[in-house]
Amino acid sequence: MSERITSLGNRHAVVVGASIAGLLAARALSETFDRVTVLERDDLPAQPAPRRGVPQSRHLHILLARGAEILDELFPGITDEMVEHGAVRNDPQVDTTYYLDGRAIAAKPSDLVGVGVSRPMVEHLVRQRVERLPNVEVHRAEAVGLLTGRDGATVTGVRTNSTRTPELTADLVVDAAGRGSRALHWLRDLGIAEPPSSRVEADVVYVTRNYRWEPGQLDGRHGCLIVPFPGSPRGAGVVHMEDDRWGLVLFGLVGENPPIDEDGMLAFAESLPVPDIAKLMREAKPLDDAVRMRYPASVRWHFERQRRQPEGFLVTGDALCSFNPTYGQGMSVAAMEALILRDLAAGGTAALPTRFYRAAARVIDGAWTLAAGGDLRFPEIPGRRTAADRLLAGYLDRYRLAATVDPVLARTFLRVAQMLAPATAMVSPGHLIRVFGGARRARC
Ligand SMILES: Cc1cc2nc3c(=O)[nH]c(=O)nc-3n(C[C@H](O)[C@H](O)[C@H](O)COP(=O)(O)OP(=O)(O)OC[C@H]3O[C@@H](n4cnc5c(N)ncnc54)[C@H](O)[C@@H]3O)c2cc1C
Repeated sequence: MSERITSLGNRHAVVVGASIAGLLAARALSETFDRVTVLERDDLPAQPAPRRGVPQSRHLHILLARGAEILDELFPGITDEMVEHGAVRNDPQVDTTYYLDGRAIAAKPSDLVGVGVSRPMVEHLVRQRVERLPNVEVHRAEAVGLLTGRDGATVTGVRTNSTRTPELTADLVVDAAGRGSRALHWLRDLGIAEPPSSRVEADVVYVTRNYRWEPGQLDGRHGCLIVPFPGSPRGAGVVHMEDDRWGLVLFGLVGENPPIDEDGMLAFAESLPVPDIAKLMREAKPLDDAVRMRYPASVRWHFERQRRQPEGFLVTGDALCSFNPTYGQGMSVAAMEALILRDLAAGGTAALPTRFYRAAARVIDGAWTLAAGGDLRFPEIPGRRTAADRLLAGYLDRYRLAATVDPVLARTFLRVAQMLAPATAMVSPGHLIRVFGGARRARC
């Protein structure tokens, strides 16, 4: 097997899904594979637009700083290109107000760089760059199954619904088909059991609507995020993005269900602990109808714990782990996984799936801990809380409070939330002292 995959010449990779994870995986593999074919079952729009195969593309997306950084590494200048298309570059610590536990964290100019950009625009510009790569082709076809070698344990390509190319042989198949991926069924057909999984049932409902942006609204800021907290499971966010618009989302956890009619949405916004979003909704002109999406649970598949892996096949992006969207992590984690794939494939492709899952698990651990930790603050959300978790939760309660008066703590919080620093940055010895002092001052 390793001979087949590591042999030089005419190596071919197939990626299933031309959304963010698939396009980034294709870019990553284009460095070591002679040819990369991306299969997409959806019609791909010529202009930035939401599409059926990615229902969440109608909803507000936040591109975290780490995700933007990686996009610029893989496609130099792409965030400048976003800005040329009207996206809004900003300093998240002054241009966006983050309300944690109902209080704004301290604003101070920082070195953090955010980009307010819609999800369709990100995908459109990334796809344009990928389509320009000489050894990558995007095909309109649905993958319907895997091809295997005689041993049955090696994936050798995919079957598709295309009459022109019903079978595509490949040295590596990457499944980036999102939450609806068929990978588990395909693996079951090869006699491989489902890997263990983790779930956090936050039961999130998202309602997104776009509004016209006008100078001076939201006190001149470019965004606002009201994070839910125990006893207040409603949240909201608004981001200034291209086309002079605000992308606005109202969301609820644990059964809170924001309405989609005008009056209902406003009443929901007015029930939030701070008035910023309701005020903006009263002032700004709606550009479209609201859309709603339910997201029952974050789901993580632990392929890294599975002893038996087929060679030549791996799963990435939302198909591997999908997060509660309110933390805005999905695209950035997909980007981090693409870097892992690029680096591991460059070092040889023997046992690539096993090595990939092991390295990806470390990235996912960081993001999962953050999101699951936030969700498990809500007693209504099922999940195990250890004594150590409760101790940490108590510290983080104080941290959030102290960050309202201490810009250093606020910046570290944002670096962690933007995936630029590990969560352990919030428990460094220097921060411990600031947290206890800051929490005392904030209570006065
Ligand atoms: C409501 C909501 C809000 C979100 N907000 C954010 C946010 O603020 N920030 C952020 O970073 N992330 C956010 N996310 C997550 C983000 O959308 C995903 O992480 C991101 O799209 C990467 O997903 P993906 O490429 O793995 O899968 P998807 O985007 O789901 O794409 C899968 C692709 O595979 C194609 N496909 C599926 N099956 C086949 C097949 N058999 N053959 C061929 N093609 C196939 C589909 O048509 C689709 O194009 C949000 C998610 C939701 C639900």
